[in-house]
Amino acid sequence: MGMSLTAIWTIGGIIGALILAWALFKIGGKVRDKAEASKVIKMSLYKSRSGKSGKGKADKKTCSFCKKKSARLAFYASETGQVIGVCDACRPQAERRALNRL
Ligand SMILES: [Zn+2]
Repeated sequence: MGMSLTAIWTIGGIIGALILAWALFKIGGKVRDKAEASKVIKMSLYKSRSGKSGKGKADKKTCSFCKKKSARLAFYASETGQVIGVCDACRPQAERRALNRL
């Protein structure tokens, strides 16, 4: 009788320990999930913010030759090493000046 009672207590203790470990694992996982979620939110906020400013810059560029705004520019490196944007109309001009197409 004494032996089986000890066995019951032992099994009970093991089950209790398992439940405690499971509960701690669950709580720990939740805390980790929260931390991950806040990290993701921060990153997405940062991304959207930087993405907006980048879009504003890349909207429409001015041609370096005719100063007209063009959505599509070809970029060349000038003799002075500067990067210049050239519209379709002025591209032959840039080619004639033998600029390096980027
Ligand atoms: Zn042009």
